[in-house]
Amino acid sequence: MAEAPPVRRTRLAIVGSGPAGLTAAIYASRASLHPIVIAGVPSGGQLMLTTDVENYPGFPDGIQGPELIEKFRAQAARFGTEFVEANVTAVDLTRHPFVLEVGLMGRVEADAVIIATGANARWLDLPSEQRLRGHGVSACATCDGFFFKGKTVAVIGGGDSAMEEALFLTTFATHVLVIHRRGELRASKIMIDRARANPKISFVYDSEVVEVLGTETVEALRLRHRKTGALSKVPAEGLFLAIGHDPATAVFRGQLDLDPKGYLKTTEGTRTSVPGVFAGGDAYDHRYRQAVTAAGLGCMAALDAERYLAEHPAGHARSAVPAMAPSETV
Ligand code: NAP
Repeated sequence: MAEAPPVRRTRLAIVGSGPAGLTAAIYASRASLHPIVIAGVPSGGQLMLTTDVENYPGFPDGIQGPELIEKFRAQAARFGTEFVEANVTAVDLTRHPFVLEVGLMGRVEADAVIIATGANARWLDLPSEQRLRGHGVSACATCDGFFFKGKTVAVIGGGDSAMEEALFLTTFATHVLVIHRRGELRASKIMIDRARANPKISFVYDSEVVEVLGTETVEALRLRHRKTGALSKVPAEGLFLAIGHDPATAVFRGQLDLDPKGYLKTTEGTRTSVPGVFAGGDAYDHRYRQAVTAAGLGCMAALDAERYLAEHPAGHARSAVPAMAPSETV
C-alpha cells in the first residue's frame, strides 16, 4: 500500500520564496519560529529571471538576480528555516491550524501563514519575445532602463505604467516609442500629458508587436496594424512590456479578501481578512514592485506574524499532529 503523504506541523508557514518570503523567513527563523517556506516550483520569484540587479542596496557592483536569491536563502537556512520544494495546491484557512496542501509533498499545518506569492508581469507570449527576455526584452524599466543609454527603445501598453516607464526611460534612451494596441490610451490624463510633452517620446497606435527581431539582442520589432493588417518594421534595441501584472493569489480566492484585480487586501500593516494570515510583497503591493520593497514588506509580515503568535500560544491549535523538529535542510 502506498505511504500516506507526510503532514508537517509548524508555527509559521511562508508561501513563496522571492525577496518577501525569504526576508520573512530570515526574521521569523531568527525569532526561533522555525518557519517552513513552501518555495514554489520554480522557486525564487521574478529575480530568478533578472540578470544584473544594480539597485539592491549593499551590492555596489551589482549582483545577478539568482545569486541574490541564493544569498537570501542561505541566510534564512542559517537560522533554521526549512524549505519545501512544492507549490501550494489548495488551502483551508477556515480551520485552525491552517491547512496548506502541497501535492505529493503532503500537507503543512500552521498556526500562522505569510503569503508572499508575488505577482507575474504579463508578457505577449511570443516565442521571439521569450527567447530575448533578459537580452533586450524586459518587464521592468526601473530594473533595466540603465542598460539602454543612448539607445532607441519601445514600450508596449497604454496604461499609467506604460507612461511612467516611457518617461523613466527617456533618462537613458535617445528615443522611446510607445506602442499601444488601441487608438486611445487608458492612462490618466496627467500621465498622458507628461508623456506627450516629452520630445523623446512618440506614439504608435492601433498596433501590436507580432515578432521581436534580433539574434543575440533586440534589433527591431515587427508590428501589425490592427485595423488595416499592414505589417511594418521599427528599429528598437530594447522592448519594455508594461501591459500589467497578475498577482499569484488564485489558490486563496474565496478564502481571503482580494481586490478586483486579485491582489490581497490588507488592514493594519500586513493583516489579511483572516486573523493569523499575513501578506508580504507583490501579492498585495501593486504600486512599488521592487525587490527591496518586497523584502521590506516580508519583514513587516514576519514581525506582525511574530506578534500574533506570541498572543496565540501553540496549544490553541486543535491538531493532534505533533510539532516537527526544525531542520537544517536547504
Ligand atoms: P493597466 O492600467 O491595466 O494597463 C495595461 C495596458 O496594457 C492597457 O493599455 C492594455 O490595453 C495593455 N495591454 C494589456 N494586455 C495587452 C496585450 N496582451 N497586448 C498589448 N497591450 C496589452 O495596467 P498598468 O498600467 O500596469 O496599471 C495598473 C494600475 O496601477 C492602474 O490602476 C494604474 O492607474 C496604476 N498605476 C498608476 C501609476 C501612477 O499613477 N503613476 C503608475 C503605474 C500604475 P487596453 O488599454 O487596450 O486594455
